[in-house]
Amino acid sequence: MPEDHLQIKNPKEERYRNTIGSIVSWGIFRAAIVMLLSWVVGDLVGWLDYGTWWMLTVLIFYAAVLHPMQVQYRLYKEETAQVMEGTLCSSCRYFEPTGVLCSKLDEHVSEDDIPCEGELWEPKPSM
Ligand code: SF4
Repeated sequence: MPEDHLQIKNPKEERYRNTIGSIVSWGIFRAAIVMLLSWVVGDLVGWLDYGTWWMLTVLIFYAAVLHPMQVQYRLYKEETAQVMEGTLCSSCRYFEPTGVLCSKLDEHVSEDDIPCEGELWEPKPSM
């Protein structure tokens, strides 16, 4: 029987499920679908009055766009809490928190993986 649970994870394969960019782009994609469907339904369903159509559109928009974005943002905050505060990268000027990315090397960082191994670290400029 294979001992999958004993395999050591490669930190380079570690990816966060969400970034701000992915949350926003999926939100825009779902919003476009909801708007298209609402327009088609409003056009084709003759018995649907304008007020009901608006109410349904707003409800579906919340359920399909806003609520998933809230859930994804909560997951993003939970998953990245450690890398945002407790790593060398989090204090570096090249750290891009919205993408959990090193802008110098264009690589994702995590609490287990500092791509430059500290050699390119520079302090964040003070405000
Ligand atoms: S330069 Fe190095 S320390 Fe700075 S964000 Fe990139 S990987 Fe992290």
